[in-house]
Amino acid sequence: MGEGWHDLDIANPTDEHAMLRRMVRDFVREEVEPQTLEHDRDERFNLALFRKLGELGLLGLTAPAEYGGAGMDATSVVIVNEEISYSDPGFCLAFLAHDQLFVNNLAHSGSDEQKARILPKVCSGEWIGCLGMSEADHGTDVLGMQTNAVPRDDGSWVVNGRKMWITNGSIDDDGTPADVVWLYARTGTDDRGRAELTTFLVERGMPGYSAGQKIHDKLGMRASTTSELLFEDCVVPAENAVGQPGESMIHLMRNLEHERLGLAAMSVGIARRCLAAMNAYASEREAFGRQIRDFGQIQRHIGESWAEYRAMRAYVYDTARQLDLSEAGHRLDSDGVKLFATTAAKGIADRAIQVMGGYGYVGEYVVERMWRDAKLLEIGGGTLESHQKNITKDLSRNPGAIEE
Ligand SMILES: Cc1cc2nc3c(=O)[nH]c(=O)nc-3n(C[C@H](O)[C@H](O)[C@H](O)COP(=O)(O)OP(=O)(O)OC[C@H]3O[C@@H](n4cnc5c(N)ncnc54)[C@H](O)[C@@H]3O)c2cc1C
Repeated sequence: MGEGWHDLDIANPTDEHAMLRRMVRDFVREEVEPQTLEHDRDERFNLALFRKLGELGLLGLTAPAEYGGAGMDATSVVIVNEEISYSDPGFCLAFLAHDQLFVNNLAHSGSDEQKARILPKVCSGEWIGCLGMSEADHGTDVLGMQTNAVPRDDGSWVVNGRKMWITNGSIDDDGTPADVVWLYARTGTDDRGRAELTTFLVERGMPGYSAGQKIHDKLGMRASTTSELLFEDCVVPAENAVGQPGESMIHLMRNLEHERLGLAAMSVGIARRCLAAMNAYASEREAFGRQIRDFGQIQRHIGESWAEYRAMRAYVYDTARQLDLSEAGHRLDSDGVKLFATTAAKGIADRAIQVMGGYGYVGEYVVERMWRDAKLLEIGGGTLESHQKNITKDLSRNPGAIEE
């Protein structure tokens, strides 16, 4: 047996990871937690607080340092998402859309010129980024997308279409669109009718790009904005097309794996917060002259939540450890971990409400918001059903994965 491996802390494998966690945890306690209730109630994105993440160097976690990024790995991303979501999953979703959907994509797949021009602005928080993939009629069925781009003789492109459900699509209540969009558009159709995708970097100010309706009355994630994006004869210069026409499916697949791990990490934060809340409450609250933690049914809520929290945490950090951000090919576990962790987090939030009775049902006690926010994680970035479908397909191609 090799020496030392028993000492590995899977959630803080190096001193740098542990320091990052401490730094983010302090920031969350001092700056994020005090504003959560208000921003959820008012359905408002806290742009000023978001820019502070840039000051801390957190808005380009996986981007290279030469462009203003932090040059970190997937485990670092998981740590940051977990810590922010312990307090404010809605705010974390806005962070994820910017850091993991926009910045990570550009850092990985953009040209050197595009990276040099745009990454410093998004890593500092001067610009807010988002990703436009889903459409009103095409969510899971992403290759049915209708937003299209047509090349012009001078090398520029004309984009037409609408994207739906875009986190950070607008950044305020005045309909100001995201500064920059990582946009997937159809530039061809294969013989099965599926879109051949190309990515475009659409910047605020380009003619024909605007934010459409802001989605109000969301169940959860209310501290992030969700909007429609409109592209009406939007002219995108040649230098803002990413890679070769039709090759973006690989960008999309790779980044979806990263996104799914990021969403699973958010579930860990939600679960830890809810478990802590129900555990503390079970000692404080008395009924029939006893602490409620003496009752077997409360013990079942706490015991099962602990076991599920520990299982999801192990699966999330183990997947992060293995995730190579530079290539696709981890779908079995990025789907698996999101499938398990999101539903477990929602279940733990539900139990926390149950343990806390009427208090658990009101905003001040936090867990009802966690429950509402957790539900989105079963839909966004891929529905539970899409994960079940993908896992079953991947295991039919590679049954050996079960025996490894
Ligand atoms: C708050 C929020 C934020 C979001 N942020 C973004 C964002 O920033 N960028 C972005 O591009 N998108 C974003 N989305 C969109 C999100 O990714 C989609 O909602 C999601 O992919 C599901 O698509 P849909 O809503 O069209 O549902 P559909 O795909 O229409 O699914 C409806 C139901 O049918 C099921 N279904 C569909 N196909 C199959 C199948 N083959 N087998 C079995 N069941 C199936 C689904 O699982 C689901 O239960 C966001 C959504 C929300 C709600």
